[in-house]
Amino acid sequence: MKIESITDCVKLNNSVQMPWLGFGTFQTPPGEVAEQSVLWAIEAAYRHIDTAALYKNEADVGRAIRKSGVGRDKIFVTTKVWNADMRSGKIAEAMNASLKALGMDYVDLYLLHWPVPGKFVESWKALEAIHKQGKARAIGISNFLVHHVEQVLAGASVIPAVNQVEWHPLVRQQKLLDLCHGKGIAFEAWAPLMQGRVAQIPELVEIGRKHHKTPAQVALRWGLQHEVVMIPKSVHKERIIENANVFDFQLSSDEMKRIDSLDQNKRLGADPDNFNF
Ligand code: NDP
Repeated sequence: MKIESITDCVKLNNSVQMPWLGFGTFQTPPGEVAEQSVLWAIEAAYRHIDTAALYKNEADVGRAIRKSGVGRDKIFVTTKVWNADMRSGKIAEAMNASLKALGMDYVDLYLLHWPVPGKFVESWKALEAIHKQGKARAIGISNFLVHHVEQVLAGASVIPAVNQVEWHPLVRQQKLLDLCHGKGIAFEAWAPLMQGRVAQIPELVEIGRKHHKTPAQVALRWGLQHEVVMIPKSVHKERIIENANVFDFQLSSDEMKRIDSLDQNKRLGADPDNFNF
């Protein structure tokens, strides 16, 4: 598949269209910074914003979208239910709180943020109900490993549309990616810029030099060419623009393989089989 523009979309398994390139907001401070960075992103033509109840910036995301003047139906919005709400079984209430904060009557994608042990299968049922009510156009999972995905699939009436996981050159999770793509679950990368560490990878720097691109742009292009949805975060206007400027070059298959070979199964974030939050 050719991904040639910032508005190109992956067609999810329920036919909803999700832009391949989105904008992340984890650790973006609530208030003016969050609102301004989302406004810059929309100005730079991003049409997909990723937030979460945990990030405490849903209200700013919603306000920025309204201020942008771009129609709500032209922007793909993802939010996520936090683990505490899965543990207490208050997912419907958490969804309503997220919608209220966003100032929206639906989101495009609602995700289970982490596979909370003993809870994620029944939590999926709650998401199915939310989807049926029309409060989320698509529902999905996040940080689910192969065995979590298989457990959800075993009892699901709605197949997750998306699995959003940590994914970058150092942690490629090829088996998980193959499983998701094989089951029609779109694969979405968090930390696609290795949380800012891409410039420390000499191969990305070197390949970038050849294409007159930065290591961040090479990492994003590599993900897109693997048909992975990428959601880089920045609070700086010039980087927001830089990260969107990845549709005018193509990595060769040798360059793709070279980046593939960097995989060390090394996570920057928590292990989904062993997290304490
Ligand atoms: P990213 O890989 O997107 O990296 C963000 C960091 O990179 C920031 O420190 C940013 O700094 C810096 N940066 C941005 N652009 C550039 C650039 N061009 N060159 C160099 N550095 C750059 O990490 P995230 O953890 O933010 O992941 C992306 C998104 O994924 C999140 O924002 C969130 O929406 C989602 N996410 C989901 C998780 C989940 O559990 N489902 C977990 C973590 C993230 P600055 O802002 O100062 O420019």
